[in-house]
Amino acid sequence: MKIDIVGGGPAGLFLAILLARQAPHVEMEVIEQNAADATFGFGVVLADTGLSRLSDAAPDVCADLMKAMTFGAQQTIVSQETPLTVKRPGQGGGAIPRLTLLNILQEHAARLKIPVTYSSRVNDIDSLAGDIVVGADGVTSRVRASDEMGFGTTRRELTNHFAWFGVGKAFECPALVFREYHGGYFVAHYYPYSETMSTFVAECDHQTWTDFGLEQWSLDERQKLFDTVFAQELGGLGLISNNSSWRQFPVIRNANWFCGNRVLIGDALASAHFSIGSGTRIAMEDSIALAQAIASSDTDAQRALAGYVALRRASKDRLISASEASYLWYENIREWMTTFNPHQFVYQFMTRTGRLDVARLREQYPELVRELESAQAIPANEALL
Ligand SMILES: Cc1cc2nc3c(=O)[nH]c(=O)nc-3n(C[C@H](O)[C@H](O)[C@H](O)COP(=O)(O)OP(=O)(O)OC[C@H]3O[C@@H](n4cnc5c(N)ncnc54)[C@H](O)[C@@H]3O)c2cc1C
Repeated sequence: MKIDIVGGGPAGLFLAILLARQAPHVEMEVIEQNAADATFGFGVVLADTGLSRLSDAAPDVCADLMKAMTFGAQQTIVSQETPLTVKRPGQGGGAIPRLTLLNILQEHAARLKIPVTYSSRVNDIDSLAGDIVVGADGVTSRVRASDEMGFGTTRRELTNHFAWFGVGKAFECPALVFREYHGGYFVAHYYPYSETMSTFVAECDHQTWTDFGLEQWSLDERQKLFDTVFAQELGGLGLISNNSSWRQFPVIRNANWFCGNRVLIGDALASAHFSIGSGTRIAMEDSIALAQAIASSDTDAQRALAGYVALRRASKDRLISASEASYLWYENIREWMTTFNPHQFVYQFMTRTGRLDVARLREQYPELVRELESAQAIPANEALL
């Protein structure tokens, strides 16, 4: 069986590594448009609960990732200029430079002698002759574009505007700062990912964008505005751009995960909003399911693809609906920032995805719940849970 994997990001490389181990009969090639040492963005979060699944699938890869990660056992949430500390369960979330993440996966792939062709963009999917063609080619997937009718692709854009920057210092801990500035509503999501660097996602709602006339501003002017709004946190350092373009998050979904011999994984299949900090691990978990399905398919491509959907659909749908609840919450930040006091705000934030009710919140964040209770921030009907 021959498998072509389009895209050497986290999903594509991890799939190749797992296939080399679990399905050694498979012949494969990974084709990546960028050079091995190129990447967009800065650091990404890999939640620690997610890591246990990656670790079960490839303990050595996961151990290498963990060695390169910066863990933050607590997070600060600031609204109305009041910081609240959220102590996270376990080791907390860990972050890693995206380039290091890719380099670790590339090294494992090289050790397994997996052919990876870098600096080679696939434009014509029909030219790929594999029994299975995997679209691991991210949000702008070419594989998906080759048959959007067949995949049942839908897309829409969220209204908030965001851009992904770096900062040349390691913040003490990850934080979310919600700030009103001259009638605009701004959010900074930042977290350290090495001893010297942090990621900083800058966001504002659409009304702020139009009220300030940001559409007409240059990239540099927009960056300076965020430097000013978050000057207190940045402490004199400016944001660092790396092709940091301003976008509205594209929500992409596919009713059919495969179509003929073409199959989608990771962001190509469903874009996961950055506010749940799990896009990378969700993508890598797709790879786990697809590798498992291919390994047990007895070289029957259609059986493998159907097996992938059966293994993964229910859990992926849960993660994606958490992502949806999270981005819908962010779409209304103006309302939450003006309606709730800082404690109520944190309660609303922590429960926004519907995955944590008061009972689970109490179990995982006991100190926070005590503080929220004493501030009477938990609605009476929910506090009884
Ligand atoms: C602002 C922002 C912040 C984020 N923060 C986090 C975070 O904190 N934690 C987290 O887990 N995730 C985060 N994410 C999401 C994360 O980056 C993605 O979910 C994750 O990278 C998906 O992995 P993937 O392998 O599916 O796709 P990608 O990482 O996009 O990889 C796709 C690969 O395919 C290649 N490719 C594309 N087209 C072609 C082609 N035609 N031919 C050959 N190669 C091609 C690309 O070069 C790329 O290497 C964030 C995303 C954004 C936008």
